[in-house]
Amino acid sequence: MKAAIQVEHDVPVAVSFVDTPVPGPTDVLVRVLACGLNHLDLWLRQGGTGDTLSLPRIPGTDVLGVVESVGTDVDGALIGRRVLLYPGQSCGQCEHCVFGHESACRGFKILGYHVDGGYAERVVVPENLLVPVPDNSLNWAAVPVAYITAWNALVAKGGLRAGQSIAIWGAAGGLGYAALRIALALGADPVAIVGNTDKKVWLRSNGFEGHVVVRGKNVVQEVRAHTGKRGVDLVLDHVGAHTFNSSARMLATGGHLAFCGVTSGHLTEVDLRRIFGRQLSIAGTWMGNYADLTAVVELLDGCPEAMPAVTAYFDLDEAAAAQDEMSCSETAGKFMLVFKQQS
Ligand SMILES: [Zn+2]
Repeated sequence: MKAAIQVEHDVPVAVSFVDTPVPGPTDVLVRVLACGLNHLDLWLRQGGTGDTLSLPRIPGTDVLGVVESVGTDVDGALIGRRVLLYPGQSCGQCEHCVFGHESACRGFKILGYHVDGGYAERVVVPENLLVPVPDNSLNWAAVPVAYITAWNALVAKGGLRAGQSIAIWGAAGGLGYAALRIALALGADPVAIVGNTDKKVWLRSNGFEGHVVVRGKNVVQEVRAHTGKRGVDLVLDHVGAHTFNSSARMLATGGHLAFCGVTSGHLTEVDLRRIFGRQLSIAGTWMGNYADLTAVVELLDGCPEAMPAVTAYFDLDEAAAAQDEMSCSETAGKFMLVFKQQS
């Protein structure tokens, strides 16, 4: 089969032919229809992340495909089903796995990062990672990583529900945009925080009609003003050191800070009086669980306007160029590999 492979760090992925993987007894072989690109793919390319990575590796974490064959212990009725792949593999036995929090498993491995992923015509995964999806859009391939992270932070941990207010940092970025769409689909009232007016224009061009705050020194006051100075029920913060205190100040008494990234650094000073005096809760999130993907697929199935925005589609042969374009892009529009009909 044809695959785009990260052979070593600091070079573009290279397209070549490799043996088609063979499913073990509890695995399935999935023919890839489309594979969304992620920044994780660029980190694999760059290396130096501190993760234990072994190369060569086939990248590709967000995978939509069709089950083509199954292992000896798997129900053959799955063959022909269109599926998304939950992008993590875990031990299945530790306390986290047993309670459905597999992203907390110490043995957690990410598809396309620690094990071979979807920059290939076919991929083998354990049967229990499949989530069936409707046969209506290739854009499902842009869902898994961004949407399960957002769902886990907002809903599974943050308890977001209709009528609540939420401020979302980086709302024109991949995670922020997924959070924005989920919040709207749930009937919540999101305030989108973006870094510049171009991103505000991008949100408007993708149909977001709600409140947008362009980040400046009054960002806290502007968010609070939207709620009549009450503060919001939730904040999604994946920026870290530069925004943590602002996030805490945006929250209403009893509010919830969903915290899932440190792109601006990981050390900051915090006035702890604000945390306990205002009875705030803070929950860290790292990716999400299988149950988050099934929940978000159900939501999107009934709410197609919440599907991801896709900027450009590429052939597998263009994988390196697609990565280059993604690395220059500042908005959430996804880049996606689409596979031609294969033999
Ligand atoms: Zn485990």
